[in-house]
Amino acid sequence: MSEIPVLYWFRQDLRLADNPALCRAAAVGAVLPVFIWDQAVFEQGAGAASRWWLHQSLAALQRGCEGRLRLLAGSTVQLLPQLAAQTGARLVVWNRAFEPAQLALEAQVRARLEQQGVRVECCEAATLWPTSQLGKADGTAYQVFSAFHRHLQALGPLPAPLSLPVTLRWYGPPTAQTAGGQALAALALLPRVAWYQGFGSVAQVGEVAAWQRLQQFLCQRLSGYASGRDLPAREQTSGLAAALRWGEISPRQIWAALAALPACDDGAAFLRQLVWREFCYAQLHFWPQLPWRNLRAAFDRFPWQTDSSAAALRCWQQGQTGYPLVDAGMRQLWHSGTLHNRVRMVTASFLVKNLLFHWRLGQRWFHDCLLDADLACNSANWQWVAGCGLDAAPYFRIFNPVAQGQRFDADGAYTRRWLPELARLPQKYLFCPWQAPPAVLRQAGVVLGQHYPLPLVDLATSRQQALAAFAHTKAAV
Ligand code: FAD
Repeated sequence: MSEIPVLYWFRQDLRLADNPALCRAAAVGAVLPVFIWDQAVFEQGAGAASRWWLHQSLAALQRGCEGRLRLLAGSTVQLLPQLAAQTGARLVVWNRAFEPAQLALEAQVRARLEQQGVRVECCEAATLWPTSQLGKADGTAYQVFSAFHRHLQALGPLPAPLSLPVTLRWYGPPTAQTAGGQALAALALLPRVAWYQGFGSVAQVGEVAAWQRLQQFLCQRLSGYASGRDLPAREQTSGLAAALRWGEISPRQIWAALAALPACDDGAAFLRQLVWREFCYAQLHFWPQLPWRNLRAAFDRFPWQTDSSAAALRCWQQGQTGYPLVDAGMRQLWHSGTLHNRVRMVTASFLVKNLLFHWRLGQRWFHDCLLDADLACNSANWQWVAGCGLDAAPYFRIFNPVAQGQRFDADGAYTRRWLPELARLPQKYLFCPWQAPPAVLRQAGVVLGQHYPLPLVDLATSRQQALAAFAHTKAAV
């Protein structure tokens, strides 16, 4: 083949539309798309459930690229320059990825390619606004969400999303597995332990599926979102987080779809969530240590438990704490790879404030189990719940899992679904079965300690312990 391709390196932008780097490539010549599974680098950003998603997403992308997507596994620093040399490519383009390991990788890859005389062009496509516009005029970061939100509003209307490039031509015949390419299965992304059978029912993966999900959300669930988004039994939210995480759809595309509708409170509430995502990305941009270090250094002294083999941690992971809303959430997470936002907050708070485990242990578990696991959003939210993050609620606000259940799962539909052993308990005792009289437990067929655990800790005592630890931490600063 005499034509020389432009290499397009797919990373966490697994879509064809609203893709600035792909537009750039398509404007220059025939495009050879490549995805490289570089285990050492993805280790940081892709947990086990997330890899399952990536596997399906690459299959969908392969269809979108009409079989031209070259799949490679190994060191990107070696493989991408090699592919450029093999094909004679003079230009490589990509959209930036913001995880620290990905940023370090792209600096190395760029240096190698440029040494070889290959030109590199990079774009940004993961956030609403370029990261250079996410900070204050003096170059520092916003620390409070409301000020950040006002700053974005002051930036004016977002540019319209880009269409599929009309000039897009794929390079070569659809023989993705030739010339060093591999079959998708050879990337071995699917977890070895097949605990993921439940994922298929919740997950439609890929760019086309993300659009369908957005349309369904706008038609069927946007109305009532502002109040319904807090109720875990209701499927009121968009379910777009995993598609956003792998870039199957861009936040700008979602924003533009909302902007095309008449303004309403539900729409505003939904867009506000996208701004929270932007705030998380801004945090990772300004503090690359966000996934590992407390943003508020005073918390470095907090006496969190860090023993990852502790029995109480396993009880939390397995949904065996004796607190029904927490346990329902942790079982939903394990079986479906998803977890409702309200229940994420309650389960996370229980781990860090009632069991006093370090937030990083919870962050790691979510990272491995969530289909939408995202280094920026997961880390920022864990820090927020733990009290050491930006704009965190005051430390003394500790979620009470009994009151949260009574308020947000008022008819118990969510908790009964995930804890069938408690399904026959009257609503009055559903979130505090240890308070049920023996006759009520007998009638519901529940023997505490046998069918369902007794509470792992006492809520009032553990709350006092957390507050005392916090007071001690503050005093030591
Ligand atoms: P929708 O309600 O439809 O919201 C639309 C979009 O807004 C979401 O898809 C997401 O991109 C964004 N969004 C919504 N809430 C938040 C938020 N609090 N912070 C940042 N972005 C938000 N979100 C992730 O995408 N990945 C994670 O790994 C993740 N880990 C979390 C861990 C904890 C402890 C907590 C409390 C929250 C976490 N979140 C995470 C945020 C939130 O729970 C999910 O984004 C949301 O539940 C996804 O469902 P949805 O797409 O239906 O959301």
